[in-house]
Amino acid sequence: MTDFKILITDGLGEGGQSILRAASHVDDKAALSAPDLIKTVGGYDALIVRGRTKVTAEVFETGKKLKVVGRAGVGVDNIDLEAAKKHNVTVVNAPVSTTLAVAELAFGLLLSTAREIPRADASMKKGEWLKKELEGVELSGKTLGIIGFGRIGMEVGKRAAAFGMNVVAYDPVVSEDDIKARGGEPVTIQELYEWSDFISLHLPLNVHTRDLIGRMALSEMKNGVRIISTARGGIIDEPALLDALNSGKVAAAALDVFATEPPGGTDLVKHPKVITTPHIGAQTVEAQTRAADDIAHEVLAALRGEPLRWKVN
Ligand code: NAD
Repeated sequence: MTDFKILITDGLGEGGQSILRAASHVDDKAALSAPDLIKTVGGYDALIVRGRTKVTAEVFETGKKLKVVGRAGVGVDNIDLEAAKKHNVTVVNAPVSTTLAVAELAFGLLLSTAREIPRADASMKKGEWLKKELEGVELSGKTLGIIGFGRIGMEVGKRAAAFGMNVVAYDPVVSEDDIKARGGEPVTIQELYEWSDFISLHLPLNVHTRDLIGRMALSEMKNGVRIISTARGGIIDEPALLDALNSGKVAAAALDVFATEPPGGTDLVKHPKVITTPHIGAQTVEAQTRAADDIAHEVLAALRGEPLRWKVN
């Protein structure tokens, strides 16, 4: 049965593609350029993307047949949701598929900031033996402040508790009772800044959270705080973080996400107290398999007018 025409532009795992092909015609045009997408999208009922493709107002203008846009992953900041609404196009994502992958990376980065593991390895590869210099700190007994206590934040909290950390969390949407039920101690953002030895970000980027971690917030934090972000670039004011690292206010930072991606060799990326990864939070075999399967089922459900689990708009 090939009722529907579906366009994939950022690749999709085999499992997800099989689910789609069993019920529709699928074109997998990985790395399609923005002008080519505009030229092509008119022939399709559904478009499936990851983070690379920008689904702009122009895409919705020209995609006259489009009924659904699927994001194989969580963040939908590359999709113009207003334009989708205007053109009556449903946007769906696969928000639970990548939770564990991101939580595990965040935890790896947390440990890396505590023990400078990447620097230790890089020095060994240069033939050095920096045993004396590489004195880290322990996680046990320290306070981890989690900003955004949703799916990923909660999983990071569980792992931190297993390491003997005190987990405090700020989330303006999740109730105090739910934060406690998820294993965190609910606090105000000021208390979190004041008490945390480590801060991990797990909130979305939006107009309220852009530059949230700026000069003011940084000044309210403990001296020597370590900051981890696997959330979204733009939540941290990068020049402010660089100054705070240079002054010693922030002892270390670990970043998987950047205001501009790829960021290139900026002073922040090259800073000796900064650990960076190229937005690999969701890059595990398991997460990508789950994301492909979940989005395939969800897009087909949207095309068939069936109930949806993860409607974004
Ligand atoms: P989620 O929706 O389950 O949780 C986010 C939480 O943030 C919600 O509970 C929400 O109430 C809270 N929040 C909203 N505004 C806030 C604010 N101003 N202050 C504090 N909390 C606030 O989402 P999730 O699946 O846990 O994802 C969290 C973040 O991780 C998102 O930014 C997402 O884009 C990012 N992410 C990154 C990668 C990666 O590859 N690095 C992959 C997946 C998700």
